[in-house]
Amino acid sequence: MNKKPLILVVEDDVPVRNLMSTTLKTHEYKYLTAPTGREAVLLASSHNPDVVFLDLGLPDLDGVEVIRQIRSWSNMPIIVISARSEDEDKIAALDAGADDYLTKPFSVEELLARLRATIRRLSVMNSSGADSSVYTNGPLRIDYPAGCAFLYEEELKLTPIEFKLLCLLAKNTGKVLTHTYITQNIWGRSWDNDIASLRVFMVTLRKKLETAPDTPEFIQTHVGIGYRMLKVE
Ligand code: CA
Repeated sequence: MNKKPLILVVEDDVPVRNLMSTTLKTHEYKYLTAPTGREAVLLASSHNPDVVFLDLGLPDLDGVEVIRQIRSWSNMPIIVISARSEDEDKIAALDAGADDYLTKPFSVEELLARLRATIRRLSVMNSSGADSSVYTNGPLRIDYPAGCAFLYEEELKLTPIEFKLLCLLAKNTGKVLTHTYITQNIWGRSWDNDIASLRVFMVTLRKKLETAPDTPEFIQTHVGIGYRMLKVE
């Protein structure tokens, strides 16, 4: 991304909004701010920002509704901001298509780190082409049409479900996928015992994929929320 990224900050809390915009300004990002959901949707469509930071508790529209409206026409990255007590809202936001989340209170460093990770993912997606049939991430390579995956050029012996799970996470690298989203995509439903099965499949997949399954390099766990495939340098 050569031009300066444009960030849309949606937050009704004035001190938080000021902190965010000052931080962005200091680090030479361009930004727009919106204090309400309606203004957020309007600015998102008129300015097509590169990344949206979206507070979930807004005075007019529910943050999840803002995501649904933006997602009806755009895949722009959306990072939701919520308080720790709003875990259910956070999960609903991720299910509606948010890419990542920040939990209040957050530090300026966390904000900038999430932003950099999101922008890096955008440039990777733009350069590799969305319909690429081979995925590479560090030593991991997935040949989607052939249905096989390799780690350091050695084929991983994956079961069909493990392969499906790996592909789903890979196709959404950098994005947090909720338990519900994953189970619906793998099994077409999301019952409590499917989430339990997902945990079991994740253990076996990690044993094959990760050099040290207890300190995973590829698949990150978000306790009570889901999993994310990380971009390995
Ligand atoms: Ca708020």
